[in-house]
Amino acid sequence: MSGALPPLREVIARHGLAARKALGQNFLLDLNLTGRIARAAGALEGHDVVEIGPGPGGLTRALLDNGARRVIAVERDARCIAALEEVAAAYPGRLTIVEGDALKTDMAALADRPARIVANLPYNIATPLLVGWLQTAPWPPWFSSLTLMFQREVAERIVAAPGGKAYGRLAVLAQWRARPRILFDVDRRAFTPPPAVTSSVVELVPRETPLAVADPQALETVVAAAFGQRRKMLRASLKSLGRDPAAMIEAAGALPTQRAEELTVEQFCALARAYAAER
Ligand code: SAM
Repeated sequence: MSGALPPLREVIARHGLAARKALGQNFLLDLNLTGRIARAAGALEGHDVVEIGPGPGGLTRALLDNGARRVIAVERDARCIAALEEVAAAYPGRLTIVEGDALKTDMAALADRPARIVANLPYNIATPLLVGWLQTAPWPPWFSSLTLMFQREVAERIVAAPGGKAYGRLAVLAQWRARPRILFDVDRRAFTPPPAVTSSVVELVPRETPLAVADPQALETVVAAAFGQRRKMLRASLKSLGRDPAAMIEAAGALPTQRAEELTVEQFCALARAYAAER
């Protein structure tokens, strides 16, 4: 149990883990909060948990205390590895430390099913990591849930409904293949050092079958085109796809005068199917 381990402040001091902004390092030292995040990830018994950016290991300890069969922790900062090895020694055989860049790591190959992904994400790579998980092939994916800390504003973009400013690429990609919801907010002062804004823990549960049929790359392409010029009408914004948008817009049951933020996820899937059919 983590009771055998020293307080996180002591670990940080002893290993010289002064937070580096370039690595998105905002550490959580409050064990009540790390425990709350671990519990929010659902039952961990019998699950491998992939954690991105364990840092000094606060959330890692909580995941292990909450019954994870094994935690596979991917950390880019070499300074953290010795501190994490102490955690590994306190939980024999249950913590695998992977030193490297999470964006370049084949996480599916590291974890056995059933697996969950839990992380207090480095904000500078939070969006590309999420998009990568959502583009996993095959689908349904190797993980049964994602429980992730984002900046509040990013969390709002993930769960946004059509019609508002927050609705865009992230909402469409996330809601197409998963059911996302904001679980709770975390005050900036809970972190060391505190980031500029409030954070939120978001849960995404993969849908067994996506909301509608679409090729992931085609969907990504039409969504990028439509929201790339979000203030323009679809008949103008979709021109960047290099073909007449009228047929695609009709296939999606939309009007050429509508704007991207007015389309449902299902309509974007219909656009993607029409786009892919013309290729
Ligand atoms: N999990 C710790 C906690 O909650 O206190 C640290 C969270 S901190 C917000 C983000 C962590 O991600 C840092 O430890 C940082 O070094 C690590 N990190 C940054 N970029 C990374 C990358 N590309 N791959 C893996 N880890 C990364």
